Amino acid sequence: MQSILELQPNLRQKVAQVAQVAGYLWQKGWAERNGGNITINVTEYVNEDADKMPAICETQSIGLILPAIRGHYFYCKGTGKRMRDLAVAPMENGSIIRICNDGAHYDIIADHPVQPTSELPSHLLVHNSFIESGSPYRATLHTHPIDLIAMSHHAPFLKKDILTQLLWSMIPETKAFCPKGLGIVPYCLPGSKELAEATLRELSDYDVVMWEKHGVFAVDTDIINAFDQVDVLSKSAQIYLTARSMGFHPDGMSQEQLQEMTTAFHLPK
Ligand SMILES: [Zn+2]
Repeated sequence: MQSILELQPNLRQKVAQVAQVAGYLWQKGWAERNGGNITINVTEYVNEDADKMPAICETQSIGLILPAIRGHYFYCKGTGKRMRDLAVAPMENGSIIRICNDGAHYDIIADHPVQPTSELPSHLLVHNSFIESGSPYRATLHTHPIDLIAMSHHAPFLKKDILTQLLWSMIPETKAFCPKGLGIVPYCLPGSKELAEATLRELSDYDVVMWEKHGVFAVDTDIINAFDQVDVLSKSAQIYLTARSMGFHPDGMSQEQLQEMTTAFHLPK
């Protein structure tokens, strides 16, 4: 069987990026078993031939009505699939779906009837909000960075922007490359409506959101950029933890030094 990726070169490149990032997540130790999810809006990368492709299994319900993404295409990691497998075989561990015209159902169109992640409704809810608001963001990533999750087990870190300030102060690039910082969502049941809604609220102010004692949810224009935002936060967390393991509290950059960075690189205040 011919893969959709052979017919759609732009799509092939976007799916290759997902596979690349899935490999990084595994190498980082952030993607045990089937942990983590990736959903990307690939509508701009498919040509008109995709519109003619039939569903390859029964139409599925999203469980939500999402009118802004009617007719949009997504690459989604499959339910129960492992990032380390997706890294080498993205179309066997994920699928391309097309949202139906009612905004409430979707069809899997390629390559195999791999059912998308159970987190699909919450990922699509976020994508729907991007299209509604005219945002250029097209990628959503959920992963389990060990260092950041460990920090979320300490209640004082969970007050608004405490972790953001701490992580920004560890190395100048973190504020430059994660300029909105880290939002916090208090513990919610994984996959719950409460978690999806709280995440959506935090995403109006942040690109990366910490789910207390669980992981992070990151968004950006593409999956490489979403990964990079989590990676720079994790680097800062590593510096903090390394200093603590050497027996001292790191001084961190001063407010003046952070302010100087903000002005020099035209970062948001
Ligand atoms: Zn998770």
